[in-house]
Amino acid sequence: MSMSNDQSKRRLRIAMQKSGRLTDETERLFKSCGIKINENRDHLLAHAENMPIDILRVRDDDIPGLVMDHVVDWGIVGQNVLEETQMQRALDGQPTGFNEVCKLNFGDCRLAIAIPQEQEWHSLKDLEGKKIATTYPHLLRRALTAAGVSYKSVLLTGSVEVAPRAELADAICDLVCTGATLQANGLKEVETIYESQAVIIARDQELFPEKKALADKILTRLRGVMTAKESKYIMMNAPRAKLQEITALLPGAEAPTIMQLEGEPERVALHVVSREKLFWETMESLKELGATSILVVPIEKMLD
Ligand code: ATP
Ligand code: ZN
Repeated sequence: MSMSNDQSKRRLRIAMQKSGRLTDETERLFKSCGIKINENRDHLLAHAENMPIDILRVRDDDIPGLVMDHVVDWGIVGQNVLEETQMQRALDGQPTGFNEVCKLNFGDCRLAIAIPQEQEWHSLKDLEGKKIATTYPHLLRRALTAAGVSYKSVLLTGSVEVAPRAELADAICDLVCTGATLQANGLKEVETIYESQAVIIARDQELFPEKKALADKILTRLRGVMTAKESKYIMMNAPRAKLQEITALLPGAEAPTIMQLEGEPERVALHVVSREKLFWETMESLKELGATSILVVPIEKMLD
């Protein structure tokens, strides 16, 4: 893939999944960072309308390689695909270098072992000498080698969950989110061998200065969006005498703003940004301390 040198110096190229489980969240992420891209998913290459950014829409399996071969600057992919591909490329003698830019808090799933529901399970040792169907042979091998288990790997790129019923394998090692697919196929999940989420990775090479400035700007926005997602703006009225106890209860809160309530000398209004989730239990404790009108409001963006 060649491009005029000038363009590759200036435009940040990002690879994302064309259509699949990471696509919607990735597009939402771009949008929340102010990157406007063409909605048409059929185009391999989309240019952002308002920034020198090119978006490459590909299969998720191709994303780690595009980054490791320096064809794109950034890629958004699940850690499961990233690590599996990296191990395969190492075997093939291809480059495997990359830098992790940021974890994304979406695309959460786990790679798990599942066996027919009616079978007993004690530990990974039960898999000794068994046939295991999977799309992730390297991640499976890493986990079972660590457990000292020898087994036979059956490579399937799809429909892994039907393998035991079709008598292709005794067990499977597959991605699970809710477990509904397993249950529908008469399987039960018995052990997690890998936990994954989506990440942004970058090529292991300094970017040209102009591009680096853009990448840093996007990254700052991204972190702002992600912190904001977990942060809340909390408001309440509270007895002045309990202020210290109340602020001690608020997790990750910065210095609160305190305002006098008109006509109530003993009570104040307290406003604060909290960087962590606020649980019902905490709200109940606040109420016990005399807080009233407790409001928890989501924050859309944050910039420190
Ligand atoms: P492609 O056509 O791009 O190869 P695919 O079928 O291999 O797509 P998807 O099923 O869209 O891949 O999953 C993409 C990634 O999303 C997975 O590798 C994993 O990281 C993550 N993922 C898998 N299952 C779930 C799930 N149930 N919920 C959220 N994320 C998931
Ligand atoms: Zn894929």
